[in-house]
Amino acid sequence: MSKRVAILGSTGSIGQNALRVIAALGPEYEVVALTAHSRTDLLVAQVKQFKPAVVAITHPDFESECKSSLNGYSGQILCGPETLAEIVTREDVDIVLCAIVGAAGLPAVLAAAQAGKRLAIANKEPLVIAGELLTREAAASGAQILPIDSEHSAVFQALQAGRRQEVRRIVLTASGGPFLRTDRAKMEEATAKQALAHPTWRMGPKITIDSATMMNKALEIIEARWLFGLPVEQIDVLIHPESVVHSMVEFIDGSIIAQMGAPDMKTPIQYALTYPERRAGIAECLKLEEMGRLLFEPPDFERFPALSLGYRAAQEGGSAPVVFNAANEAAVAAFLENRIRFGRIIELIEQALEAHCPHKRLSLEALLETDSWARQFVQRRLECMNPV
Ligand code: NAD
Ligand code: MG
Repeated sequence: MSKRVAILGSTGSIGQNALRVIAALGPEYEVVALTAHSRTDLLVAQVKQFKPAVVAITHPDFESECKSSLNGYSGQILCGPETLAEIVTREDVDIVLCAIVGAAGLPAVLAAAQAGKRLAIANKEPLVIAGELLTREAAASGAQILPIDSEHSAVFQALQAGRRQEVRRIVLTASGGPFLRTDRAKMEEATAKQALAHPTWRMGPKITIDSATMMNKALEIIEARWLFGLPVEQIDVLIHPESVVHSMVEFIDGSIIAQMGAPDMKTPIQYALTYPERRAGIAECLKLEEMGRLLFEPPDFERFPALSLGYRAAQEGGSAPVVFNAANEAAVAAFLENRIRFGRIIELIEQALEAHCPHKRLSLEALLETDSWARQFVQRRLECMNPV
């Protein structure tokens, strides 16, 4: 039987890779829905190639351009962000692959979890913001949440080697990003161009900046906490600049099972689609004999304060991770617009965490309310600040 896939955020780095994987997997995998926020030209080309039953453009500015470019297309064209939840609950969708960036994917991810779909999830922010709610809804509906994030896919694969109660800890590896060896003063003043030069991974701009601050790893600690139902104390981080070991699980008998591969997101994307099977794929193969040495070292919590903040937010739970994530999104957007220096990103997140009144309300409304409070907090700070 064919597996019918909806791809949310098909024009992004993950979305495009997902389409390459699906094209190579052959007719068993069918694309039934594609969505994008902008980049109409690319979306239109994807629609022509994959002929989905439905396509959605979520940004209102691109609605008319998208409709006129798709003149003659026989499928359904939807517009606006609220249409995402409608798409994921369609009967003809088996797998929802969420490759949207940021909190914007949350309502659709929640709807998919409630509808009992397989969720192949690259978008870490919904798990950070609403991990408890999402995992609870997925358990109730029988929805599977399968990670695409490379570290979490590695942990998920390594976990197949033992039972949950036999896990001592998981170790998330981190490349360390472009500033691994940069001194703190230089890093504080770095520009967007410098921070966008990631040494090993090619990704969208937001996650690339998150790698430079190590906010990406901090978000991944919280993501792992929910995906694998582990307390934060059992989640460690190791710097591994070669990005060959994507993460590992240490079991109670001392065995460490690691997953390795080339730094190519097509591998975790494909595994989330074909699990529990493995298929021959188009991902790059790792040539260990060409690697030379592999390095592992503990992270520097002083130069990368995002990590300690992430552990703190994860331990606090409730609304803290929501503020942590939303303040970061707002600060990264300002940094990408060259409005603030690099060091200011973490300062703004810290200030938002300090100013907010923590709560443990789990409804989507309460979470989104806190999310928008944190964004507004950062905006107000940016408005009353001297430039850069
Ligand atoms: P990207 O910026 O390349 O693409 C983002 C996609 O989301 C685009 O299709 C865009 O149209 C869509 N989008 C943006 N804003 C939207 C909005 N407000 N509403 C609806 N759609 C919107 O990002 P990416 O690098 O592909 O990352 C996507 C997600 O996957 C992120 O959550 C990221 O953390 C995660 N991730 C990415 C990688 C990677 O290698 N790129 C690795 C691990 C995890
Ligand atoms: Mg990752």
